[in-house]
Amino acid sequence: FLEIEKINKYYGEGENRNHVLKDVTTGVEKGKICVLLGPSGSGKSTLLNIIGGIDEADGGNIIIDGAKLEDMKEKQLSLYRRKHLGYVFQMYNLIPNLTVKENIEVGAYLSDSPLDLNELLNTLGLWEHKDKLPNQLSGGQQQRTAIGRAIVKNPDILICDEPTGALDYNTSKEILQLIEKVNKQYGNTIIIVTHNDAIKNMADKVVHLHDGRIRKEYDNENKIPAEQLEW
Ligand code: ATP
Ligand code: MG
Repeated sequence: FLEIEKINKYYGEGENRNHVLKDVTTGVEKGKICVLLGPSGSGKSTLLNIIGGIDEADGGNIIIDGAKLEDMKEKQLSLYRRKHLGYVFQMYNLIPNLTVKENIEVGAYLSDSPLDLNELLNTLGLWEHKDKLPNQLSGGQQQRTAIGRAIVKNPDILICDEPTGALDYNTSKEILQLIEKVNKQYGNTIIIVTHNDAIKNMADKVVHLHDGRIRKEYDNENKIPAEQLEW
């Protein structure tokens, strides 16, 4: 469903030229959860940004449901980013003067949301917080809101870059359980980038990136529910 073919990426010029992604080839089947692991600086966020159409590769192809990202015109690319792609970051990036409900509605406006907002607020466990501002929420609640904003458009692909990076153990587990629930309920294809090795156990597919190259990748035959993860 998502095919990543021989992606190369360089930053900088001349002596400072840095080969950040080296012939990265992999893929994720529709509706599956892929966990992308790798040390700091290995190129994980760069790869996500290329998949997300935010950054451009220097060679290679991203193919989504048979369509090459590179061949998309600006308008199609914009549509892809707005409607078919959800992004969740380590820092929640909520709009500070909008309530939980309003922050999630932003995602809906961008996409003619197919989902029922009230039902989603329940799924997210945010119903009782829906009228609060971000600064009245815990980190976990803010991340739930950010997931809501990304998921309200029911995107084909949900990209999560260190979604639990700023959260404590219990809250991290809650967020992972929520991602799993969203995957089951809505069938989105999900990529989670993390430093946390334990999270790979909830994945259908695991990809290890090292120094811009795929070092190891495999389908996880015995995946375990996020609830049972321990680290
Ligand atoms: P982390 O786990 O710390 O988030 P990462 O695996 O996400 O790391 P990237 O952010 O993809 O790593 O960065 C990969 C390499 O590319 C690093 O060496 C980084 O310094 C470099 N890099 C990333 N973005 C840029 C940029 N916009 N300009 C120049 N170099 C960049
Ligand atoms: Mg990163």
